[in-house]
Amino acid sequence: MSESKDFLRTIVEEDLKSGKYNEVHTRFPPEPNGFPHIGHAKSICINFGIAEDYHGHCNLRMDDTDPTKEDTKYVEALKDAVEWLGFDWGNHVYYTSDYFPRLYDYAVELIKMGKAYVDSLNEEEIREYRGTVTEPGRRSKYADRTIEENLDLFERMKKGEFKDGEHVLRAKIDMSAANMKMRDPLLYRIRNVHHYRAGDTWHVYPMYDFAHCLSDYMEGITHSICTLEFENNRDIYDWVLNTLGLNSTRPYQHEFARLGINYTVMSKRKLLELVEGGQVDGWDDPRMPTIAGYKRRGYTPESILNFCDTIGIAKANSMVDVAQLEFCIRDDLNTKVPRVLCVLDPLKVRIENYEGSEEIDAPYYPHDVPKEGSRKLPFSKEIYIERDDFMENPPKDYYRLTPEQPVRLRHAYIITCKEVIKDANGNIVEIKAEYHPDSKSGSDSSGIKVKSAIQWVDAKTAKSIEVRLYDRLFSSEAPEGLEDLNPNSLQVINNALIEPAVITEKPDERFQFERQGYFYADPIDYSDEHPVFNKIVGLKDSWSKKAKVIKSEPKPQTKKVQVDGEIAPMSEAEEARFNKYTIELKLNSEVANTLARDEKLFHFYEEALLTLNSPISIANIVANEVARELKEKQIDELKFTATQIAQLVKMVDDETISNKIAKQVFEEMIESGENPTQIVEAKGLIQISDPAIISPIIDEVIAKNPDNVAKFKAGNSKLLGFFVGQVLKSTGGKANPQVVNELVAKKLK
Ligand code: ATP
Ligand code: MG
Repeated sequence: MSESKDFLRTIVEEDLKSGKYNEVHTRFPPEPNGFPHIGHAKSICINFGIAEDYHGHCNLRMDDTDPTKEDTKYVEALKDAVEWLGFDWGNHVYYTSDYFPRLYDYAVELIKMGKAYVDSLNEEEIREYRGTVTEPGRRSKYADRTIEENLDLFERMKKGEFKDGEHVLRAKIDMSAANMKMRDPLLYRIRNVHHYRAGDTWHVYPMYDFAHCLSDYMEGITHSICTLEFENNRDIYDWVLNTLGLNSTRPYQHEFARLGINYTVMSKRKLLELVEGGQVDGWDDPRMPTIAGYKRRGYTPESILNFCDTIGIAKANSMVDVAQLEFCIRDDLNTKVPRVLCVLDPLKVRIENYEGSEEIDAPYYPHDVPKEGSRKLPFSKEIYIERDDFMENPPKDYYRLTPEQPVRLRHAYIITCKEVIKDANGNIVEIKAEYHPDSKSGSDSSGIKVKSAIQWVDAKTAKSIEVRLYDRLFSSEAPEGLEDLNPNSLQVINNALIEPAVITEKPDERFQFERQGYFYADPIDYSDEHPVFNKIVGLKDSWSKKAKVIKSEPKPQTKKVQVDGEIAPMSEAEEARFNKYTIELKLNSEVANTLARDEKLFHFYEEALLTLNSPISIANIVANEVARELKEKQIDELKFTATQIAQLVKMVDDETISNKIAKQVFEEMIESGENPTQIVEAKGLIQISDPAIISPIIDEVIAKNPDNVAKFKAGNSKLLGFFVGQVLKSTGGKANPQVVNELVAKKLK
């Protein structure tokens, strides 16, 4: 169990302690209409995790009440996902469709109690009669039907005597309830279609609000945990169970915030669009945020569980940085998997003074003493190195092989470049080199200084492999649709070369290709004749830097060299800092990790803290924006100071400027070195919080969008965000989002 108890576990503990329940019983109730995604993983971890922690049970239930979208292949995918994550659903999977007969009987009972009626208004009329947030609804004249009439009609609906939409069954609750969901909610609708499991028996299908609470009740569920958007449905949940008198030991609904991740879409509907549109290669495409996608890409279940644990459980929706998930997989594989040598873009090196061949003993786990295992690396006169590990005219801080600068071949010798061979077009095709016989790794007495060690493979024995380099599927932080797809999310390399032991010995399925990243033998396409490896994740987060490079001038390659290319375990000092940052200053672990490990960054951070005590806000900007600058520069090359960053954060904290504007100001600071307060004043960027200014802008937006106003008033509360967004947009991001939010909500009432 995680050390700190979340609010759901607190509720469960209290309920067990008070004797409300003897045993906790949860359920994970997906609708089998798509493959489960990482958001579902969160729900799986919560429901199965709580059951495990308190020695209870968790049911896996297919919530299959919508016959038009469901399919057994999705049922299988859901079972696979839960199993792969390591959870146990006991003897069998539950299906809401198995309860159709009993649910029908409950509905009949409600009719007999005078608590449900068959309504014959059409869809549009039903919506119209429901009223708005400010106006009560009207009850349909059909609500006066007698119990006998209702029973007769409902039975005929069931038998298939009517067309889709001709009648519905509704609960008789309160057409003027403040909670619009309580205005006589629909319980059953007619669907004359085949159900993937129930066949053609049924012509009426229960609605979520009716089926869910009763399914929970019938299974003896105690805690019905769902996401926040069901908050308003809770009243119906309680009404159905109470009205039917099912209140001795009954389940209660509790809501938590759903997971959202940047650079990702997270809805089965949107994912289905990608699959059907061919933008990805199926639901398990390694770029998909589905559990099957992560599995095929090479993520481990442990890394996903750990991710779900670190993001925590909250009652307010928020966006999680995808870098946090990537951190979890790196962290898991770092010490676990063998490190091997692979060259993605080979450049031939001929070592002129080497004759014969040898085999060099090289450990698979060079940095983790407790883990044993090694292989033989064949070495001979001709080898391949990575093309970009050689430069003829290198920039100042290029640490790899150049005509002047020797380099170490990982686990082997130091070589010096003697001659560069080019083709007719001036492309480098081969390097002639010399090796230093007394420089062998582990017994180096050459005295030659090198600045890095690079990967290589022996030309004669290396195996050719296909490598699939995956990157984020979307290049936008909050992707809206296909236009935000990252065109470079997949790059296939057909002739990468790998040391032979990886293929012949197969010490594992996952590897660190040194200095390249983590890779996984593709579980479907891999064969010994044609090995295929998927890139799981790079060795460090290269994304923020990449985003920057696209914007600025293309620069010569100045990739900082990581000699060994691994995520090193933390030193004692780093760990102490990490602990201070996470525990005392309450930073999240990804940010704390970034700061604690980087000398330039934590100096900068702590200096800023001296000016302003706002550890979390400062940390975020230092770990992201400032870090991006410091990747290419030294502190004294920056045009801004830690104190100025503190000033910038202060303006955000006291709401002088919005977060969005802060980013803009920061860009200015990088370029001009001006003081943030001056920039804000000079450019008139001060946040607008005055309702008198904001109000007319909102009125304008409302006037321009009558359709959305109508939809909002009809109950589509999600559109609030649309209106707020439009207002922010027309003020160039200067309006105070909170004030806008409140005003918009008030005006639309
Ligand atoms: P989607 O909108 O992606 O189709 P859904 O909510 O319709 O998702 P269901 O199959 O109905 O998907 O969900 C099964 C369970 O998983 C529900 O309890 C739901 O609340 C939960 N769940 C779905 N998405 C998320 C998410 N992003 N974060 C946490 N829990 C989620
Ligand atoms: Mg759904």
